[in-house]
Parts: sequence; C-alpha cells; structure tokens
Amino acid sequence: MILWHLGATVLIVRYVFRDPDMDLRWVLAGSILPDVIDKPIGSLLFHDTFGTHRLFAHSIVFPMAAFGIALIATKRGTGLRRGLIGLTIGLFVHLLLDAAWATPEAFWWPFFGWEFPKVLDSDLFSLLGRMLSEPLVWAGEAAGAAYIVFLWRRYLAEAGAMRRFVRLDGRVDLPTGS
Ligand SMILES: [Zn+2]
Repeated sequence: MILWHLGATVLIVRYVFRDPDMDLRWVLAGSILPDVIDKPIGSLLFHDTFGTHRLFAHSIVFPMAAFGIALIATKRGTGLRRGLIGLTIGLFVHLLLDAAWATPEAFWWPFFGWEFPKVLDSDLFSLLGRMLSEPLVWAGEAAGAAYIVFLWRRYLAEAGAMRRFVRLDGRVDLPTGS
C-alpha cells in the first residue's frame, strides 16, 4: 500500500501540524520508508532468515533514532533539520497507519528481545497476492491517490509550482482561512 501511505500521511500531517513551511518531500519519503526498507529485506532477500515483512524500520526505535539524528547532527533552523523532522513525522505516521503496535515484538524491538516474530505467508509473492485480492487495499490506494491528485490540482497546478515543490521547498499551501 503505497498511495494510501503517501496520501493519508500528508492529510494527517497537514491537519495536525498546520505548518505551511513543512517540507512534504521528506514527509512523503518517511511515509513509505519503513516498507521500502523492511519488505525487500524481510520478504524477499532474507525471507528465509527473518520470515516477516516487519523488521527494524517498523519498530518505534526507528523514528526515535531519526529524530535523535535530526537533533544531534543538524543545526537548528536549517532546511536539513526541518527535513529530517518531517521525515521523522512521516515514519511515525507510517507506524500509526500500519497499527504497528499490533505486532508488539516488532514494534518494541529490541526491548523484548532481538528476534522478530515470524509472520505466516510474509514472502513478497504471498504478500502481494494477498494485498491485490483485498478490496480494502484497493480502496485505500484509490483514496490516497485521490487526495494527492486533489492537492496537486488545487495547489500545484500553476505553471512552475510543481517544479518549485520538487526542486526547491516541498511546500503546499494550507487551505485559506484555516
Ligand atoms: Zn509498513
């Protein structure tokens, strides 16, 4: 579920933080990063070892580490710090949307031990097959896509606006009057 994560995360972040300067490029990256890391490792490359699609990047330690790095390794007021904090927020929302606490050994890793609980049929092909046959997944993807298209047409359709978003600041105006 990629578009669901991208769309729902941006929606939540825009309405919770209401920060017109939030760099959504980093938020978007954070919103899918846990899956980009864990699924190839746990479901494909090292499935025999781990046997689960939720590893380190689906533990609470991961966004906390990103937040720590943002505070320690970057200077206050810089674009990099703002970006990394945006990334951290994206990571947190990913765990929220995944209901990651439902697999507590992975969520609280490594506090309950170094092992990740194996998940049945978590190899990439079973996982994809299950997702593609699940109407709720398609509904989520459609909702995420619809919100992204809405934002694009509402706020980034002007000439040069998309280029500015991608290359420069990742900003999308907030609704006026909010
Ligand atoms: Zn995930």
